[in-house]
Amino acid sequence: MCQEHKPIGNPSHFEGTEQEKTTAHSVDGTFAQYTQGMKFFDPHVHMTSRTTDDYQALADAGVVALIEPAFWLGQPRTGLASFKDYFASLVGWERFRSSQFGIKHYCTIGLNSREANHEALAEQVMEILPLFLQKEGVVGVGEIGFDDQTAAEEKYYRAQLELAKEMNLPVQVHTPHRDKKKGTERSMAIALEHGIAPNMVIIDHNNEETVKSVLDQGFYAAFTIYPFTKMGNERMVEIVKQYGPERIMVNSAADWGISDPLAIPKTAALMKIKEIPEEHIRLVTYQNALDAFAQSGQIQEADFIHGLEIDQTQKFNGNTVLRGGQAPRIDKDSLIIR
Ligand SMILES: [Zn+2]
Repeated sequence: MCQEHKPIGNPSHFEGTEQEKTTAHSVDGTFAQYTQGMKFFDPHVHMTSRTTDDYQALADAGVVALIEPAFWLGQPRTGLASFKDYFASLVGWERFRSSQFGIKHYCTIGLNSREANHEALAEQVMEILPLFLQKEGVVGVGEIGFDDQTAAEEKYYRAQLELAKEMNLPVQVHTPHRDKKKGTERSMAIALEHGIAPNMVIIDHNNEETVKSVLDQGFYAAFTIYPFTKMGNERMVEIVKQYGPERIMVNSAADWGISDPLAIPKTAALMKIKEIPEEHIRLVTYQNALDAFAQSGQIQEADFIHGLEIDQTQKFNGNTVLRGGQAPRIDKDSLIIR
């Protein structure tokens, strides 16, 4: 499938215009001087694909909590056991790893749109989803929705919407990069058809073409700041200027592709430079995501607002984030690496 696309293409991302590509990397280096004292919540970041350096950088930049949606790993899984182990790692090892850098880690669990096309396996995955959706710290069903907009994708999108409804969980909807407008409208119409309240649905990967309809219909509108393929943060500033902060949230969707886990603090810095009111910045980079996903009943702000206690000598199933002889917590500014 998708033979016309670059093999490295990420299903989370739609292809950008030439103009979008020029907006990438517009803020770098000194963003931190604008974001002192600010706290951030990244509601979409695939930390499994990232290094401990990224966790350290996120913590240093003021990211206090994040959500890791279950997604496609870049190549298709061949059996149920790899789905099981992946879901288990999102509520297990990855959460532990995040805690070792003082960041509260939540996740959403779901069958991603791309792998919904492997129907025999998809059926088996559907059977284990309820078990994982009940686990502590699972704040929604996601990321689910359309990729190629096939019949199988629709079938499993609908089945998972029913699951979300039954379990009273928010839904994190991935929108396709091809035929985005059509795919977004279709995703919303189907959610409404299943009787899901729009405020329980976070429509992700929006752009200028989709935002108005998403907000008008009462859904949350998430925006992914992603180099080259999605939104640049200059465009994001314009969207918040035009639509205000209500029900809008920014995420990095950082993953195994060329992406930027610091997209939120950098965007906040640019918003400050462009004189967006600080309260609006707080809403789109922290509070709205918290409010949307706290509807799961799984998020207590008190758990992370003052930071987690970091003890890197702690163990998870007998393993630490440290490798033999490493000292706990690395001082990033130190020039010497021992
Ligand atoms: Zn994603």
